[in-house]
Amino acid sequence: MNEFEFIDSITQGYYRQSSVIKGIGDDAAVLRHPYHDLVTAVDTMVDGIHFSKETVPAFYIGYRTLAANISDIAAMGAVPTSYMISLVVPKDYSDNELQAIYQGMDQLSRKYHMDLIGGDTVTGDQLVVSVTIHGLVEKDKARLRSHARDGDIVFVTGTLGDSRFGLGLLLDEYKDQSYRDRLDKIDRDYFINRHQQPTPRVDFAEALKSLRRVALNDVSDGIASEAHEIAKSSQMTLFIDDDQVPVHQDMYSLPDELIHDYKYSGGEDFELLGTVSEQDFPFVVEAARRHHLPLRQIGYVKDSEQTNGQVYLKKQGTLKRLKKTGYTHKN
Ligand code: ADP
Ligand code: MG
Repeated sequence: MNEFEFIDSITQGYYRQSSVIKGIGDDAAVLRHPYHDLVTAVDTMVDGIHFSKETVPAFYIGYRTLAANISDIAAMGAVPTSYMISLVVPKDYSDNELQAIYQGMDQLSRKYHMDLIGGDTVTGDQLVVSVTIHGLVEKDKARLRSHARDGDIVFVTGTLGDSRFGLGLLLDEYKDQSYRDRLDKIDRDYFINRHQQPTPRVDFAEALKSLRRVALNDVSDGIASEAHEIAKSSQMTLFIDDDQVPVHQDMYSLPDELIHDYKYSGGEDFELLGTVSEQDFPFVVEAARRHHLPLRQIGYVKDSEQTNGQVYLKKQGTLKRLKKTGYTHKN
């Protein structure tokens, strides 16, 4: 397939969004958004660093890359509308695999009524997939990390560490005899699916749109990192209670240190970490319930000058500083 045939093969027959004035087929795409704020983000995945052809088939490379982008849009409280793909393709990469990447993206993009409106294709040494996404949010309703306030409740959706556990299973990291028997009964497919086909929390974030203020951040690196980003942007201190941080029951088959590691720095669960006033929290709980999404209060926000920008973890009766990496300080 030459480049023109390839572009033809991935061009949609029609565009789902009325905002697309021109999609694929000119020097640039044209979009019209008179009544909303436009939210845009870019995410790049490199073979051998962000995924490997061994653990992630081409379809899921596409799926995961777009899911990560959609998750960023959800974390702004916006609804995704369109995306562009920049590809670096190795010479020996097959047409079928390339098509499979697009099929993976297409499956998600249909679900969210999004349009592929352009991209760029070049050859290179290793596969790189870069996606630029666009979304819309009501004017001044973007959910910023800087929106946390004194007295807020810290909440998180779903369960944490699932994606990292799924990756471990795919990489056969638990060969040691001490794990073997304990991992006999776990739901392997659940964790592998959480790694390969994560679900961005768009519907839930959109359900919060009537709230005046909520801070949101999606879990891409692990909540230790995302909690710090909120603490720093908002200049607040976050307190997290380890007992409340949600994990899937099968995770308890792992040693305590791994559970801790996966929970706080596993990453790529694409859940949402947020803060909201105590008064609005019941509304958030109800929105999650309507979307059949588990949601837990895991801590609270405090304005205390000396510690603002930091995150504290209460674990086994002691309070320690949680580092961005997920480790705790000795004292
Ligand atoms: P130009 O030379 O004007 O940059 P291209 O030949 O690179 O145009 O691209 C032609 C059209 O195909 C453009 O609309 C571009 O956005 C789209 N396109 C090119 N590569 C891709 C890709 N990998 N995925 C999606 N759209 C693409
Ligand atoms: Mg071009």
